[in-house]
Amino acid sequence: MQRAINKTGESILLFRHSQRDIMTWKQEKSIFYCPMCKERVIIRSGEKVVPHFSHLPNADCLLSGGGEGLYHENGKLQLFKWLSRFNMQVELEFYFPEISQRADIFVRIGRKKIAVEFQCSRVSQEEIWQRIQGYKSLGIESLWILGAQHLKRKSAYTFQVNQFLDTFVRSSPQRDYQQLFFYDPFLSQIVILHHLYPLQTSRLFAKQLIYPLHRLHFKHLFQREKLPYEFRSVWLKEVYRLRTQAASSYGEKFKLRRWLYDKGYLLQHLPSICFLPMPYQASLNVPYFKWQSELFVCCLADLKTGDVIKRDQLKKFLYRLYGKDAPDFSKALQIYLQLLQQLGYVDIKSSSIIRTKQKITCYTSSEQAILGDQSFFKHFFTRKKQNTSMITT
Ligand SMILES: [Zn+2]
Repeated sequence: MQRAINKTGESILLFRHSQRDIMTWKQEKSIFYCPMCKERVIIRSGEKVVPHFSHLPNADCLLSGGGEGLYHENGKLQLFKWLSRFNMQVELEFYFPEISQRADIFVRIGRKKIAVEFQCSRVSQEEIWQRIQGYKSLGIESLWILGAQHLKRKSAYTFQVNQFLDTFVRSSPQRDYQQLFFYDPFLSQIVILHHLYPLQTSRLFAKQLIYPLHRLHFKHLFQREKLPYEFRSVWLKEVYRLRTQAASSYGEKFKLRRWLYDKGYLLQHLPSICFLPMPYQASLNVPYFKWQSELFVCCLADLKTGDVIKRDQLKKFLYRLYGKDAPDFSKALQIYLQLLQQLGYVDIKSSSIIRTKQKITCYTSSEQAILGDQSFFKHFFTRKKQNTSMITT
């Protein structure tokens, strides 16, 4: 860490002091204390180490050990210096005694307060949520910038995702526009992922933008991007894979196939509306194609033109199907029904869903389904050219 309290009670930010000062303090064995636990800390410095304060071995303090490596220390400082360039109040290693938390960087812009964390080590979902909630209780938003080692690109528009990243997507600063931020202190580069859509097998779709830190303005972090054209082909490939992949004998897809079979359906032949893309914030721990298929088979397939079904009935059906472990379907269902309305399959009048006369096609062969998907999604992606956000929530 960079901040400690000296003998006279002054708060010292180590990087602001010269090499010579730091050498003198070390030689004189000057005494410094941790701002949190008030125990003694010592200066560590060397050829390959950014000078920093360190607890004594076996210290029992939240700020000791774990994740405060060279990489983190460097990155935190660089981000702090970068943020200090803009017209806002910026503090390094700011400690909040009320919640016993310390933000790597604390930013104030007018009345807005933001805790910026440069998160390199992998910590549990619970711990991240706790920290976010802690800040929230003080009216502070949090912005998490992850160490670049967590960015795993699989192809131009696909990335690996895991529970660790999932937590940050779901706590992204703009609730209706999810983003992920990464920083590489060696390259001084910020990477921002926009337009996150979960795909099969722990991957997500995203548009990646890379900026040299010195060329990026803080405000630009949150700028919205157009959904890239390439999303169409990635999505079509995703649906193709879903339909054609060899059947496994385990997992959610296997369960779905068996359930469909019992009801007289084949996954390969389901209508294209069972595979609509869901933005990450509306995604659940149930795969999108599973609940969409179930909803189609049990609630939508038998509706005739003019038939009405209540939104609540659909919700109840899903909750009954998933029992007490059911995730919160509200958001996903809302987006899904909106999409069906935009595509012309239903009319929504407050809580009533009215089936229109537009036909929902169940395919009769895999070849027909693949061709059907192509024209369906061509229409799906062009239906509202002027609106790039695609899904309004
Ligand atoms: Zn301490």
